[in-house]
Amino acid sequence: MGARSTSAKADSGMESVVSTEQQTVKAQLQATSGSKSDVNRSHNAWSIEKSEELYRITGWGEPYFSINAAGHVTVSPEGDRGGSLDLFDLVNALKQRNLGLPLLIRFSDILEDRIERLNAAFAKAIARYNYPGVYRGVFPVKCNQQRHLVEALVRFGKPHQFGLEAGSKPELMIALATLKTPGALLICNGYKDREYIEMAILAQQLGQTPIIVLEQIEEVPLVIEAGRKLGIRPILGVRAKLSSKGVGRWGTSAGDRAKFGLTVPEILSTVEQLSAANMLDSLQLLHYHIGSQISSIAVVKTAIQEASQIYVELAKLGADMKYLDVGGGLGVDYDGSKTNFYASKNYNIQNYANDVVAEVKEACDERKLPVPTLVSESGRAIASHQSVLVFDVLSTSEVPSGVPEPVQETEHLIIRNLYETYESITVENYQEAYHDATQFKEEAISLFNFGYVSLPERARAERLYWVCCEKILAIARQQEYVPDDLEDLEKIMASIYYINLSVFQSAPDSWAIDQLFPIMPIHRLDEEPTKRATLADLTCDSDGKIDQFIDLKDVKPVLELHPLQKAEGKSIKDESGTHPSSLIPHPSPEPYYLAMFLGGAYQEIMGNLHNLFGDTNAVHIHLTPKGYEIEHVVKGDTMTEVLGYVQYDSEDLIESIRQQTELALREKRITLQESQLLLQNYERSLSRYTYLSA
Ligand SMILES: *Cc1c(COP(=O)(O)O)cnc(C)c1O
Repeated sequence: MGARSTSAKADSGMESVVSTEQQTVKAQLQATSGSKSDVNRSHNAWSIEKSEELYRITGWGEPYFSINAAGHVTVSPEGDRGGSLDLFDLVNALKQRNLGLPLLIRFSDILEDRIERLNAAFAKAIARYNYPGVYRGVFPVKCNQQRHLVEALVRFGKPHQFGLEAGSKPELMIALATLKTPGALLICNGYKDREYIEMAILAQQLGQTPIIVLEQIEEVPLVIEAGRKLGIRPILGVRAKLSSKGVGRWGTSAGDRAKFGLTVPEILSTVEQLSAANMLDSLQLLHYHIGSQISSIAVVKTAIQEASQIYVELAKLGADMKYLDVGGGLGVDYDGSKTNFYASKNYNIQNYANDVVAEVKEACDERKLPVPTLVSESGRAIASHQSVLVFDVLSTSEVPSGVPEPVQETEHLIIRNLYETYESITVENYQEAYHDATQFKEEAISLFNFGYVSLPERARAERLYWVCCEKILAIARQQEYVPDDLEDLEKIMASIYYINLSVFQSAPDSWAIDQLFPIMPIHRLDEEPTKRATLADLTCDSDGKIDQFIDLKDVKPVLELHPLQKAEGKSIKDESGTHPSSLIPHPSPEPYYLAMFLGGAYQEIMGNLHNLFGDTNAVHIHLTPKGYEIEHVVKGDTMTEVLGYVQYDSEDLIESIRQQTELALREKRITLQESQLLLQNYERSLSRYTYLSA
């Protein structure tokens, strides 16, 4: 972090040097129209089905997201059961209401559908295995604490007595005030002090069902004492450190050395302490959490087997066991591959519910014990799908491409070598040609450094190198097997699309832990995306980029995108793709919208203010029979707000500028008009969005 990006802008000095060649290159491109008409042909052959396959939208988006005949992404919050709306049209309509991009759209109906699905899956499993108990899920507030979302969730969960899980004191404050569903559980996890414990116990008197989960052995005497002092019997649980581990990034949430939970000896000690205090009947719940995004169903199974045994043993020891809480971990298929790859999962919600229900029933039946109420703390699986982050592309930067001007006898040897390399590239020698081109380019730079090559010559050499790479890449893409040394070529040649977004604010897990989120354009999907690009965000940080994208196998380093269009609907590339000045980011007159999907869990609260890009605008959309309703608008941070976080007062800032202008006026360094313009801009900016407006 912190390293300044060396953007392509640094090379923009080349523009004036080589722009005279622009016309020639263009003429040649038109003359050798072979490659262009190929592009046109494949353009015609493109279809929305191809876009579906390319962006894998069915894999990760079903049943909520798909593509309509207009080539726009559509949102069907209730799957096949309800209506749908055109995401592109929605964004345009919201923009007209002064809701600029980046824009976070929350579809409350999707949230409702996720809750319905999870509860339906457990209901089905319970029926299938004749499980003589019930399921009472809870939502872990840490996944998304936004008030409108938590309130909606509690409302949607009411028919299922869906509860909340708090992992900290502030989250407990939210849960205590928000959860009013009779019979719903309030699972109290996280580190606790006396105040936390007392609040949780007293909430029983409000008619709530708080369960204090002991995560540390030190909490045991605290709850015993608090219960005694208040004269209220608390409902207690223990969090077990299972020896079955999760896999992948969050695998270390379990195991003997995990951060949370009690080891088996500690659980036994808890039983003894409670027993001695005559409170063993308070112990009613066993909880475990083996990590988030469990990609393999085998891991789910092993954990529930181990936990079931601990559960029945606790009952045998005399605890009044009533609940088994399997924690979170229910995965989301970010890449749509349905595999145990870390960005995917090889099971569905029904498989998950079936395994939990079946294993617990078996363990209890064997010991002839009553079955527990089953609890899960699925956060990611509930909250991810409901939000869609839409952002626009500001400009692009591309490496030179096209057909080079023929070499002259009089040109420098190194340029002649590069040109010959270019001319001689074939399927047979493309790998060798790549090494030659690379070597000649490096030589050209050395020669330049020693003064033997002029600046225009160096520019010509670099452009020749890039067009060599372009030709080689075109061949490499046709091959089944690409030699290792050419693997990076796709990345080297990728365009950079500058996006109106901060990765640090809106997709922190993409930056911090390389998490993959599906990203795709939300329109022009009936058109072939001829560009391959990485995404660069607004921050001045070279880590502020996205260069890993979902793929069927593994990940891909570039994303297929459409060339930006001029306002008349004409592709910018058609006019100046071969223009060397394409190293300078193009302005983007015709909006091009991308969206990041499945980011509804964890991203919002973990986002940070790097470079002072603040919260994005957010809207809550509810589908109605006639269209949609904007339930809530949560305006993103203004400059005044983000500056306030770092203790700047906007009045003071304005005053400082005002005094400077006064001084400059007195010394006649600025005109009155200029000073007013500066002040107006400054003041206006303070109340504006931190992102760029088109
Ligand atoms: C984070 C967490 C969850 C949520 O996990 P998901 O994988 O998002 O479902 C549940 N329980 C506990 C204790 C957690 O820490």
